[in-house]
Amino acid sequence: MKIVVCVKQVPDTKGGVQFNPDGTLNRAAMLTIMNPDDKAGLEAALRLKDEYGAEVTVLTMGLPKAADVLREAMAMGADHGILVTDRVLGGADTWATSQTIAGALRNIDYDLIITGRQAIDGDTAQVGPQISEHLGIPVISYAQAIKLEGDSVVVERQYDDRYHVVKAKMPCLITALAELNEPRYMTPGGIFDAVDAEITTWGRADLKDVEDCNLGLKGSPTKIARASDKVRKGAGQKVALDAEEAAQYITDKLLEKHII
Ligand SMILES: Cc1cc2nc3c(=O)[nH]c(=O)nc-3n(C[C@H](O)[C@H](O)[C@H](O)COP(=O)(O)OP(=O)(O)OC[C@H]3O[C@@H](n4cnc5c(N)ncnc54)[C@H](O)[C@@H]3O)c2cc1C
Repeated sequence: MKIVVCVKQVPDTKGGVQFNPDGTLNRAAMLTIMNPDDKAGLEAALRLKDEYGAEVTVLTMGLPKAADVLREAMAMGADHGILVTDRVLGGADTWATSQTIAGALRNIDYDLIITGRQAIDGDTAQVGPQISEHLGIPVISYAQAIKLEGDSVVVERQYDDRYHVVKAKMPCLITALAELNEPRYMTPGGIFDAVDAEITTWGRADLKDVEDCNLGLKGSPTKIARASDKVRKGAGQKVALDAEEAAQYITDKLLEKHII
């Protein structure tokens, strides 16, 4: 069985966010981590490998330094790493990103593709379903449990207060939730091997059946008008009042701010 996991290198937002003049993220200047949902997706793939036997490939699109998340994934147990990087692919919105990843996936065999439900930076949850659309395969999103049944996957698809059990014939794509599992740690031996492990690197020329008009900033229908880091609100004001005084105090404040 062949499983491909799409992992995204995202800014470790605890360290603050920096932007380029054109509003896109200055990814080169920020600390980075593997997107949490993707790490759970990778762990799910490694557990299927442990239980049923599988070859796990991790794929990322990004700057050359995005190879770090591939090495982390290989130190956790992934077999192969593919980095898709090329200047012409920069500044991509979700449409261009999913076109790029689909173009790369057309070069490899897969029974199951796993992506995260969403990335903690763009937060759109669009890329997974978009990739499945470009490849013409079924998608099951919001997976909280995954198991195999012959040539099909059976997934618990999470809803607010319940879940549905959904079955799909492979090849198909699943989007994973961080709560799917507790990802394993990298092993010392795994880290050692991953440092020198060969990583396949592809550029625009290696993407299959994708048009230039669907790639990079130029191929992105979404235009970022303005981007800024969120304004961190100061601590609220604490007042020790009894209920009646408190009600009056709040009313006065709301009047003062012309909210009421
Ligand atoms: C603050 C901010 C807001 C943005 N808003 C929008 C917007 O409204 N519309 C828009 O089109 N773009 C937007 N973008 C750009 C968008 O982040 C990028 O296109 C990004 O590459 C994909 O979208 P996402 O981060 O929302 O990913 P999601 O759709 O949330 O990602 C889902 C999954 O797809 C896979 N995946 C996503 N990107 C990659 C990658 N580069 N490599 C490997 N796997 C990947 C991962 O498994 C991930 O968990 C925004 C970016 C930022 C920083």
